[in-house]
Amino acid sequence: MSFTLAIVGRPNVGKSTLFNRLVGKRLALVDDQPGVTRDLREGAARLADLKFTVIDTAGLEEATDESLQGRMRKLTEKAVDMADICLFMIDARAGVTPTDQVFAEILRKRADHVILAANKGEGAAADAGVIEAYSLGLGEPIRLSAEHGEGLNDLYSQLQPLADAFEERADAANDTPETDVTVDEDEDDLDYVPMPTNAKPLQVAVVGRPNAGKSTLINQILGEERLLTGPEAGITRDAISLRMEWNGTPMRIFDTAGMRKKAKVQEKLEKLSVGDGLRAVKFAEVVVVLLDAAIPFEQQDLRIADLAEREGRAVIVAVNKWDIEDEKQSKLKDLKESFERLLPQLRGAPLITVSAKTGRGLDRLHDAIMRAYDVWNRRVTTAQLNRWLTGMVEAHPPPAPQGKRIKLRYMTQAKTRPPGFVVMCSHPDKVPESYSRYLVNGLRLDFDMPGTPIRLYMRGQNDANPYKGRKKAPPSKLRKHTDGRRK
Ligand code: GDP
Ligand code: GDP
Repeated sequence: MSFTLAIVGRPNVGKSTLFNRLVGKRLALVDDQPGVTRDLREGAARLADLKFTVIDTAGLEEATDESLQGRMRKLTEKAVDMADICLFMIDARAGVTPTDQVFAEILRKRADHVILAANKGEGAAADAGVIEAYSLGLGEPIRLSAEHGEGLNDLYSQLQPLADAFEERADAANDTPETDVTVDEDEDDLDYVPMPTNAKPLQVAVVGRPNAGKSTLINQILGEERLLTGPEAGITRDAISLRMEWNGTPMRIFDTAGMRKKAKVQEKLEKLSVGDGLRAVKFAEVVVVLLDAAIPFEQQDLRIADLAEREGRAVIVAVNKWDIEDEKQSKLKDLKESFERLLPQLRGAPLITVSAKTGRGLDRLHDAIMRAYDVWNRRVTTAQLNRWLTGMVEAHPPPAPQGKRIKLRYMTQAKTRPPGFVVMCSHPDKVPESYSRYLVNGLRLDFDMPGTPIRLYMRGQNDANPYKGRKKAPPSKLRKHTDGRRK
C-alpha cells in the first residue's frame, strides 16, 4: 500500500458508492486495526495499477439532529489526519451547499493534498453543479459518477503523480524492520548481529503515557548529538521519526509525542497516545517504555509493554524524572518488584532510571538499548542447545499424561529477532504451559537472554519444519508457547 486516501463529504453525496467501487470484491475491512476507529471504514483499494488504502467516513447517516455538524467535523478531521490524500466529494446535482463549504474550510486548513470530486456527474443535470464546485477554491473538480464508473480516469491521473511521490518516500524510509528472521542451518556466522548503519539505522520507539517525558528525552539525546538529517516526515501518515547518531550508533527514533502533536486532537489524549504507541512499536526493533517515576506502571504503560512483547520487540523500561525522586533506594526496590509482578513476560528486561531533563542515565539507556538489540539477535548453536536440553530434562522431567511420558527429543534455534526455538517432542499438544515456561526461563538464564521475547514451539516428529523457506511468523496451527502469554 503506497498511500492512504480518505473520501470525505456530507452524507449522501456518494462516498460509499465510490468506496465500494474502489475496493470492489477485494473488500477487506481492517477496522479492528489499531488506530482505525469503528466509525471509519478502511479497505484495500485498486484503481488501474494503483494500490492504496481507502478510508470512508461511513456511519454519518445515522445522525439526524443538530449534533450532525459536530460529529461530521470530528470524523472528517480524524480521516484527514489519517490520510495522505483527501478526496472531497460533493453532489453535482445538488450543487454546493453550506455544509460543503464547512468541509472545504476544514480541508483547506488541514489536508496536504485535496482532490475535489463533483459526483453524480452523469448527464446534463450535473453541469451547473460542476461549475459551482470551482467556487470552493480547491482547484479543478473531477466530474465523477461513482455509480456508473465515469471519471475514474481523471481520478487516476490526479492520484498517479502523488502515488509516485509517496512510493519514493516509503522506499526511502525503509519502514518496518525485519523481524522473525529465519536462521540458516549452517552455523558459521553465529556471532553475526547486524550492526546499525546509516543506511539501516537502529529503529527505536519511545513510548509512554502523555507527560512521561518522551519529547524531553528525545530532545536531550538530540541536544547531545548532532542532528543528522533533521526531522523526517515519517514513513506513514503520522509516524514521525528522527535520524540521529547517539553515542556513535546510527538510530532512527520514533517520536510518539510528535505524532500526538501532529494529530492535533486535544481530547482523548490518553487513548490517542496508545494508538500512536502501537504504531511506533511496529516500526521499532527496540521499544523504550518511558515511565514517570511518580506514576509508574499505569494500565496504559502495561498495555504497551505487553504489546511490544507480543509483537516480538526488544523492550526496555526507563523510569524518568529520577532527578526529583527523594527516596531513590526504596523507590528502585519498589519499581523492580512491580516490574516483576506486573510484566512477568519481560523477565530480566532492563529497568533504567533516567532524567530526561538533566541527561543523567542516558548513557546507561544507550547501552541498555544496544544490549537488548544484541540479545534480540542472539543465536545459540544446536549442539549447545541439546546439551542444555538434556540437563534441563534430567533436572526436571516433563510430565507423563495418562502414564505416557512426553519425550523431548531435540531442539534447535529456528529464528532470531526475537529468538525462536523449536523443540521436537512426542506429544506437542500435551506439553503444559508451565513446562514451556520452565524452558524459556532456563534459556534466558543459561544463554544470557534477559528481557527479550523468546518464542518456543513444540513440534511433533512428523510435522514439517515450520520455518523452512519462510521468513514470516509460523502458521497458527502450531502451538506456540511464550512466557505464558498468548499471541
Ligand atoms: P454517502 O452517504 O456519501 O456514502 O453516499 P452513498 O454512496 O450512500 O450514495 C447516496 C445515494 O447516491 C445512493 O442512493 C447512491 O445510489 C447515489 N449515488 C451515488 N453515486 C451516484 C452517482 O454517481 N450518480 C447518481 N445518480 N447517484 C449516485
Ligand atoms: P511527553 O508528553 O511524554 O512528550 O512529555 P514531555 O517531554 O512533554 O514532558 C512532560 C513534562 O515533564 C514537562 O514539563 C517536562 O519538563 C517534564 N519532565 C520531562 N522529563 C523530566 C525529568 O527528567 N525530570 C523532571 N523533573 N521533569 C521532567
